[in-house]
Amino acid sequence: MARIIFVNGSYLPYADASIHVEDRSLQFADGVYEVCEVRAGHLIDESRHMDRLERSLRELRIAPPMSRKALGRILRETIRRNRVSDGLVYLQISRGIARRDFIFPGPETSPSVICLARRASRKAGDETAQHGISVITIPDIRWQRPDIKSVALLPNVLARQTAIEKGAKEAWLVDKDGFVTEGAASNAWIVDEQDRLITRPADFGILRGVTRGVIIELAKRQGIELVERAFTVEDAKRAREAFLTSATSNVLPIVRIDDAPIGDGKPGRFATELRRLFHTQAEFAD
Ligand code: PLP
Repeated sequence: MARIIFVNGSYLPYADASIHVEDRSLQFADGVYEVCEVRAGHLIDESRHMDRLERSLRELRIAPPMSRKALGRILRETIRRNRVSDGLVYLQISRGIARRDFIFPGPETSPSVICLARRASRKAGDETAQHGISVITIPDIRWQRPDIKSVALLPNVLARQTAIEKGAKEAWLVDKDGFVTEGAASNAWIVDEQDRLITRPADFGILRGVTRGVIIELAKRQGIELVERAFTVEDAKRAREAFLTSATSNVLPIVRIDDAPIGDGKPGRFATELRRLFHTQAEFAD
């Protein structure tokens, strides 16, 4: 089936879906994005993603191109036209198309909107989770505002590529003091010897993951003790469990960090249970 992409007001066949060379996302990575899970045809955690999108736009002083409701219609229509039942939908908003110049264009320039959806196999994701994944650790060389979900992702791309080349699935980024910030495209978690869930506070140093927020609520509901504090690579290697969270991978157990097996080298019970229960806490939209 031919894929359909939304670009600035039109639903276009994949081969025709293009953006102007002077779109500021191309020149300056001057744009923001969101990725939502689609499950059984439902958008997962739409309002949380929209809250974060609006915050990212505000932080970069990009005017919202349309209402939240109108953006929601584009997400749904893109999902529908691509017949995505399980998969993801990607929404990108840039500052728009203008003659290349560092300073912001005037109010006559409207933001560009791109939306695409694609299928992902639920079964493949569950199989990966059953085995658990390996991560590597790598210095965090990003700018100081990774809390903004901007399309400036080159350090994340390089980190993930290095992970894959080393036979791992994700890279955990490490700050100059030896603390894990987050993954290249996920949040980082460990379970300590007292069965406490530990994850870094969502300040300016990490992205406030939507999945992370849902897992925090779920942990509270389950009576699991949660500590929001930074942890080192050594803490992680000594942990009972480690896992990552993101909208596209849900909760993914980690069984190895660099050369160190985590716990007994198998997916841990907290990660496995939180993955199983995730969608009981997440928001399903029609
Ligand atoms: N951290 C980074 C750097 C990310 O890119 C992502 C998702 O892409 C996440 C964390 C997880 O966020 P979410 O749970 O909202 O997908």
